[in-house]
Amino acid sequence: KCGSTQNMAANIKVVVRVRPLNEKELDLNSRVVVDVVDDKMLVFDPKEEIRPFFYQGVQQPNKNFLKRANKELKFVFDNVCGQEASNKDVFETTTKDMLAALMEGYNCSVFVYGATGAGKTFTMIGSNEHPGITYLTMEHLFYTINQFEKEREFDIGVSYIEVYNENVYDLLKPSKTPLQLREDSKYGVMVAGLTLNNIKTARELLNMLENGNKNRTQHPTDANAESSRSHAVFQVYVKMRYKTSSQLRLVKLSMIDLAGSERASATGCVGERFKEGANINKSLLSLGNCINKLADGSNYIPYRDSKLTRLLKDSLGGNCKTVMIANVSPSSVSYEDSYNTLKYAARANKI
Ligand code: ADP
Ligand code: MG
Repeated sequence: KCGSTQNMAANIKVVVRVRPLNEKELDLNSRVVVDVVDDKMLVFDPKEEIRPFFYQGVQQPNKNFLKRANKELKFVFDNVCGQEASNKDVFETTTKDMLAALMEGYNCSVFVYGATGAGKTFTMIGSNEHPGITYLTMEHLFYTINQFEKEREFDIGVSYIEVYNENVYDLLKPSKTPLQLREDSKYGVMVAGLTLNNIKTARELLNMLENGNKNRTQHPTDANAESSRSHAVFQVYVKMRYKTSSQLRLVKLSMIDLAGSERASATGCVGERFKEGANINKSLLSLGNCINKLADGSNYIPYRDSKLTRLLKDSLGGNCKTVMIANVSPSSVSYEDSYNTLKYAARANKI
């Protein structure tokens, strides 16, 4: 049962992914503030530029926009993926091992956390050339299921929903009416009225996710026109029936593309947009709180504080496997965002 605090250390894994500099960051000659030392360690805001910085073959002066004393903070995580890491590499260090646990009956969840533009959706969904970890994980799930097919019968249902403004919406069957959460003694947390799509191959998934993403709630804000203000939750319900005993087991895999973690205050939003920002923070904050309480060994985990944590109540806790992927930009342009993301990730890593 989830929610207990036993063996938490083995059950949560924190991985940081540093994306490559983008065009804009290169054009600005921004300073690189995240130095990936090895596959477990990074230094945030290093004292000296460890590598010379080249743009179009020419070594560039490194502009320190912020002109403050360097923090030179060492962070150690379960894994650090540098800019050269592919989605396949990230998959190998994050969700691949989870599937064995899923087959043993553990609910599993993976989160991508980070500011808008840090690479969350690239990691989760990716593109046709670089399929994200959702596709790679599902492909591996179908492979894994094949290995067990002699002893078990499988039934796979998937759903794709978003949590927006503390409301739950179906991304596969768009409607303005929010869906309600229910708790079922047998199936755990359920979304009332949600239709599960049956899929047999990972390929079928790509179109589905693409269509679902088109339905995600997006609003332009001052901070970033592409800003995504909702949490996208992809869930896989695996029903397995053991052929010898007829015993039925239901496990859930949840993959969550969290909304941008930049603070509402930084986006200069007022009114409706501000309310959105406050609600995004509410779910992110309460996710962080739940993870911290689990780490402290508290008996009371405040799952009920937000929609996201209520939804994930049975997928986040002692006997569930959780992976947190924290995405950051290496550029000084995103100094505060990266710093905040690393601190959030480090707190989760203490577990
Ligand atoms: P987020 O979902 O966190 O807002 P995105 O995943 O949309 O950020 O990434 C922002 C931009 O950076 C996109 O154009 C994306 O293709 C690109 N990008 C992100 N991560 C990588 C990466 N590891 N390699 C190459 N491009 C990336
Ligand atoms: Mg995104």
